[in-house]
Amino acid sequence: MTAEEKTILAHFLDLADDYVCCGHARRREEYAFEDDEAAEQPALPLAYMIEEPEGSSDSLEAIAGDVSACEACPLYKTRTLPVPGEGSGHPLVLVIGEGPGADEDKAGRPFVGRAGQLLDKMLQSIGLDRNKNCYIANMVKCRPPENRDPEPDEITACSRFLERQITLLKPGIILCAGRVAAQSLLKTARGINALRGEFTEYRPECNSDGAAEPENTEPAIPVLCTFHPSAVLRDENLKRPAWEDLKLLKTRLESLNKE
Ligand code: SF4
Repeated sequence: MTAEEKTILAHFLDLADDYVCCGHARRREEYAFEDDEAAEQPALPLAYMIEEPEGSSDSLEAIAGDVSACEACPLYKTRTLPVPGEGSGHPLVLVIGEGPGADEDKAGRPFVGRAGQLLDKMLQSIGLDRNKNCYIANMVKCRPPENRDPEPDEITACSRFLERQITLLKPGIILCAGRVAAQSLLKTARGINALRGEFTEYRPECNSDGAAEPENTEPAIPVLCTFHPSAVLRDENLKRPAWEDLKLLKTRLESLNKE
């Protein structure tokens, strides 16, 4: 591990500790780590280069416009701003959470509160950056009131937007943050403890124009599930397995980089 990676990881663990212990980031001494010997790691590319879908009339802007106009479930009535998602148009990693919280609802941007700060640290610790090589989205694009979990029918109504995003983005890997995102995307009732720690696959169900694809020819996308950053903030016992998941993600990203 390099000194920079150790510093980022230490800051990530400190941040989680701070929020668990006192609810805000505390002032800390600067670290002075050194590189491990033979710590050279292949740099991750800033973007996972893909071919643009031929003849597609869909775009991230069109999806955001459709989300803004959507009234397909009751969540549009109580939201402040819709939160379609943001990031690289050709991401190495697509991070999927369950839905916007209070901060995201006000900003119209995903993962901008305390959990978002921790997510940024987690991504940085393995060489990822939400603005450069990731895209951040949610299962539902409007905030569920009182931060409750989205209902199954709300997720079903909203899933066409996420499917269009996945088909358009063609991410190298999907990272599901939390139980709701993991169970909804993978259509399973298994809990997050059973789902995390290993890769599975997702195959988009619509083409890049948003139409259902009866005979799907899209390649499967590797999926890794892990704990939602807010769960890590609430329970420090989750820090270690969350870090194990990040290491797994990094190893898979490095193998993508060699392909
Ligand atoms: Fe439409 Fe999704 Fe918002 Fe429901 S949550 S109103 S389906 S955009």
